[in-house]
Amino acid sequence: MSLAITNIGSLVTNNPNLGSGILGELENAGVVIEDGKIVWVGSSRSAPASDQTIDAQGMGVIPGFVDSHAHMVFAGDRSKDFEARMNGEKYSAGGIKSTVAKTRAASDAELEANFLSLQNEMIRSGITTFESKSGYGLSVHDEARCLAIAAKHTSETTFLGAHVVPEDYAGRADDYIALVTGEMLQSCAPHAKWVDVFCDVGAFDVDQSRAILKSGIAKGLMPRIHANQLAQGGGVQLAVELDCASADHCTHLSAKDIEALAGSNTVATMLPGAEFSTRANYLDAKKLFAAGVTVALATDCNPGSSYTTSMGFCIAVAIRDMGFSPEQALWSATLGGAKALRRTDIGALSVGMSADFSILSAPSFRHLGYRPGVDQISQVLRSGKTIYKHQDGTK
Ligand SMILES: [Zn+2]
Repeated sequence: MSLAITNIGSLVTNNPNLGSGILGELENAGVVIEDGKIVWVGSSRSAPASDQTIDAQGMGVIPGFVDSHAHMVFAGDRSKDFEARMNGEKYSAGGIKSTVAKTRAASDAELEANFLSLQNEMIRSGITTFESKSGYGLSVHDEARCLAIAAKHTSETTFLGAHVVPEDYAGRADDYIALVTGEMLQSCAPHAKWVDVFCDVGAFDVDQSRAILKSGIAKGLMPRIHANQLAQGGGVQLAVELDCASADHCTHLSAKDIEALAGSNTVATMLPGAEFSTRANYLDAKKLFAAGVTVALATDCNPGSSYTTSMGFCIAVAIRDMGFSPEQALWSATLGGAKALRRTDIGALSVGMSADFSILSAPSFRHLGYRPGVDQISQVLRSGKTIYKHQDGTK
């Protein structure tokens, strides 16, 4: 069965050979899909005959968003923390512990129901691939069951036992690291593809983070890192040293950090929802683009510091407050995210790529930043199959 999408007003291919600019944008375009993959891209009027056709009616089509950073296995919420913060309190890494207590007390069914509800929100926002971390269990049993739940729904699972030192190990960070790199890793590795650590003030220092990531690498996991969110530290340098796929947050970067990222295979993943929700200062991403750093945008969906599943929102903030152009923001949320997960099959719409994309209810991707907070995702397809279709409830 082949499926054609015709009359696409603006198609983002992310292949500069196919169209204009870094997004390889094509106007009046068509796409043909077979067996879940793109088999043809070109002008709508020369699209080959197909078994089925969707008429995009002049609306835009973009690659599915790739959310390379999310924390989706947890219980409860932290709306009161948010309220206090907006009333003047500062964000610290310690709030994670209240979510840990609720997560440990929750059943598998409760955790999975919450996960699925967030997954549905992501799909409705146009996300077709997402990563999810553990990190709210912080015991051998709870980390392993959190990862097992995530692994049922995404192949991009990340072991984050080293999120913070839990209260039951207060003052015994070395003992906790021994657990994380030993028995906990042993139980979690079968459910995880990645290993991650929160390398920052109030969490883990560079030497601790290096030991944690190296233990995961020795177990066959690939490294990624939470780095330089709360302060300038050695996290980004460690990411480059260990060839992490991504250094995430990067809110506080030195000139040396930017230089190191530019000469590496490590993607800098920006998480504007975290700065927004903690009222922190934004990094000027223009410095990264000017240096040639590969940049991704992700939601950081988590109950403490960025409780959003909307990539459209992240794009709007990145454009408005972080110096991204609309093109750079769209690229970072799609192909940038794919690179942050070291995936070559997603994030672009050219021949051979997975047919993961959204049909917008707007003429082009430019409306995502231009109309912040407005749902402009009309239909979402993954591997060529519709996984979401907007139903207009207004009569
Ligand atoms: Zn995070």
